[in-house]
Amino acid sequence: MEQTKIQWTDDTWNPFHGCHKVSEGCKYCYMYRDKERYGKDPNVVMKSKTGFYAPLKWKEPRLIFTCSWSDWFIEEADQWRDELWEIIKSTPHHTYQILTKRPERIKQCLPADWGQGYDNVWLGVSVENNKNLDRCMILGEIPAKVKFISAEPLLGELPGLNEIFSKFKFDWCIIGGESGNSTGKYLYRECKLEWIVDIIKTCKEKNVKVFVKQTGTFLKKQLNLKDSHGGKIEEWPEELKIREFPDKKTSSTLSTVVSNDEPKVKSKSLSKELSGATLNTGSKANRTVTSEKSSLDLAKEIKKIETEETFHKVTYVYEYVPTINKNPMNTSVSIIINNK
Ligand code: SF4
Repeated sequence: MEQTKIQWTDDTWNPFHGCHKVSEGCKYCYMYRDKERYGKDPNVVMKSKTGFYAPLKWKEPRLIFTCSWSDWFIEEADQWRDELWEIIKSTPHHTYQILTKRPERIKQCLPADWGQGYDNVWLGVSVENNKNLDRCMILGEIPAKVKFISAEPLLGELPGLNEIFSKFKFDWCIIGGESGNSTGKYLYRECKLEWIVDIIKTCKEKNVKVFVKQTGTFLKKQLNLKDSHGGKIEEWPEELKIREFPDKKTSSTLSTVVSNDEPKVKSKSLSKELSGATLNTGSKANRTVTSEKSSLDLAKEIKKIETEETFHKVTYVYEYVPTINKNPMNTSVSIIINNK
């Protein structure tokens, strides 16, 4: 399992790597770039020696993007497929995002007990242009608890998306322009602002949650953004600023609270939010928040600065003034949500 910079997930899991290009979106595939850099053949699909069983080791719930260096449904992986589904089944606390450019292989590769879909699996197709919207038609017919589209690298407008959303239920759409260099082998291609804005509008009209990941290098240059991939939401024009996740299908329960500081920053409101949850304070023994009283005498002044929410985690950032040295300090407390 690897920590990832992909904004719409917590971690990537690459139980195997290597792939073959299937369409225009693959032209400047970063897996090819990285494998070639290390002198490896990107076309050879290999089981990972270190990462195959990685999710089994993760105790806290994670949103996991599978196969950022391959395609989950690639033929060569059929030999490992039963074992891969078993790993997913035996880790129901994780949520797996399976994204493919090979939807025609999904049906034959699903496990026998798939039914209406596993609760912890989202199925998605990658669509770079209108021509490849056919992939959504195939996924539209297959049962899954959450279905999504990744329009990245977006290489053209998607006028057919409206019809897709009218015919089939999709829950989520990710949008991103292509990252790349101006010269050399791995380039970027054009992505127009209006293409992204149109997709956002269609999603809104059809009640599909939408997540704009990055503008890509073309728009980064055009809009004069600082981030090299155009991935910083605060730099964007207002009409792009949207990062939603699919609705949680079931009720959430608090499982663990991880604090990166002493658990002494509990105001009335924080205690209320965390009441009954467990504070994991690193080297110290876990403590359960039972009342407001225990904390109020530890901090003189406390105020919430911000709240950040991802699919599995809510993080509260507080500023507080300790009674001892009176220097204002920040701390953050994350509540990890078990989505079961
Ligand atoms: S399907 Fe994905 S991993 Fe495979 S070549 Fe295309 S972009 Fe690369």
